[in-house]
Amino acid sequence: MLTRVKSAVASFMGGVMAAGGHSGGGGGSELPLRFPYMRPEFLGLSADEIECSADHAARPILILKETKRLPWATGYAEVINAGKSALNEDQACCEVVMARRRPVSYCPPSTPSKTPTAKRRSSLPNGEGLGLRMEHGMLGELVFHYWALFDGHAGSGAAVMASRLLQHHIVCQLQAVVEVLRNPAFCPPTVLGEEPDDHPHLQGATPPGPHRAALTRAASLRGSGGAPGSPCGTPPPPRFFMEKRVQHESLVIGAIENAFKEMDAQIEREKQVYNITGGCTALTVVYLLGKLYVGNAGDSRSIIIRNSEIIPMSAEFTPESERQRLQFLGFMQPHLLGNEFTHLEFPRRVQRKEVGKRMLYRDFTMSGWAYKTVEDEDLKFPLIFGEGKKARVLATIGVTRGLGDHDLKVHDSNIYIKPFMSCCPEVKVYNLTQYEHGADDVLVMGTDGLWDVLSNQEVAEAVTSFLANCDPDDLHRYTMAAQDLVMRARGVLRDRGWRITNERLGSGDDISVFIIPLMYGNRQP
Ligand code: MG
Repeated sequence: MLTRVKSAVASFMGGVMAAGGHSGGGGGSELPLRFPYMRPEFLGLSADEIECSADHAARPILILKETKRLPWATGYAEVINAGKSALNEDQACCEVVMARRRPVSYCPPSTPSKTPTAKRRSSLPNGEGLGLRMEHGMLGELVFHYWALFDGHAGSGAAVMASRLLQHHIVCQLQAVVEVLRNPAFCPPTVLGEEPDDHPHLQGATPPGPHRAALTRAASLRGSGGAPGSPCGTPPPPRFFMEKRVQHESLVIGAIENAFKEMDAQIEREKQVYNITGGCTALTVVYLLGKLYVGNAGDSRSIIIRNSEIIPMSAEFTPESERQRLQFLGFMQPHLLGNEFTHLEFPRRVQRKEVGKRMLYRDFTMSGWAYKTVEDEDLKFPLIFGEGKKARVLATIGVTRGLGDHDLKVHDSNIYIKPFMSCCPEVKVYNLTQYEHGADDVLVMGTDGLWDVLSNQEVAEAVTSFLANCDPDDLHRYTMAAQDLVMRARGVLRDRGWRITNERLGSGDDISVFIIPLMYGNRQP
């Protein structure tokens, strides 16, 4: 076991390595590719340009061409790694997408890209204004803006597939709640199809028209013209808890969460018939009805820079940040550890000669440390081992949430990583209508290649100072700022290494960056 783990640790010190090749590895699968390797569609690169972009020595920074536009004049730039994998395993997507009312059960489980109601709008020259106009458009329709970054590992298959399909899973999930979301006066019914005016949530609310009459009728049926001391006609407060009140915003969060799960399930299903290699992290931003919903599963990151203030919009999921969840899973289902790992954490590997001695440890219930008497069981390899970027789960992988990886096992064993690797995102919400945003207020999304070498503060200062020196009317300024960020993180080639300011090492990883100006979301939907 120890030899196996040593070998695995050595193999994965730089992260899960890709086998390379056009298929992104996969051990020479005979199955057809689900999607061919590509760079983001919106870059509009030729095959030759894509090939040139994979030059690990030159590492050219790719940017959105000036003639091309993304919604909200979003900026984008990317660069390939310094040789970690043959292909750039980051992927990106940016679209304006429409969801039409339809019961969620009608969503085809495997081919959402072919649903007739999931219409992509990115072919339009510029998405600005489109979303808001359409949000007010036909009843039963919702349009949302969508940006996403995927960071692949052990092959590019899962990242490419997720970059093509995840937005359609979000459409499928939203279709079931389009009507509810378009009526902000009503609370979401607990059961779809239930009349809102029969709903106990309406107590205290003042719905318009016939619903107000129904509310008054409902109040009188409860046997009271109003609570003691309350204004005449005011419905009485409920005497006891009847149902949880669900906010509209929670429906969008739930739709995004379920879309991630559906995407992951689709990858698992279609691996039976396609060559879909590896796994990927996923960071998505959805703009819908005045709010940004940032969903994150992995170690990419997004921050908002508003008036030079930094507002974190995601948190990384790593073996260290998720230690207690992972340890709890190992404790509850010890068979997942294959009798080779222990769910306990010790400050270092326990040696046989230390059995019987008292040693510091912690389990899933603890954030601090305590002493325990070392037993034979504690000689097993720790479920979580290492620190910072070198921390690994099951000596294999350094990220704990993402899509794919269904076949990933501990080296030379039958222990699967997937139960510990969750596809569930954390979704944070930012209400764009609460603030007046200027032209330099932006949301920055980046894969870990950016954040490994630049802090939030460094990114914020770089973007703020760069934009301050640009013509505020130049719509290409956000792409130029993204290019500047990628350049700062990649650095320049010197003494056979990539160096950034103060002679620090530059990022050798793939780096992808969106810069999204926020002023376009200030209009009240
Ligand atoms: Mg990366």
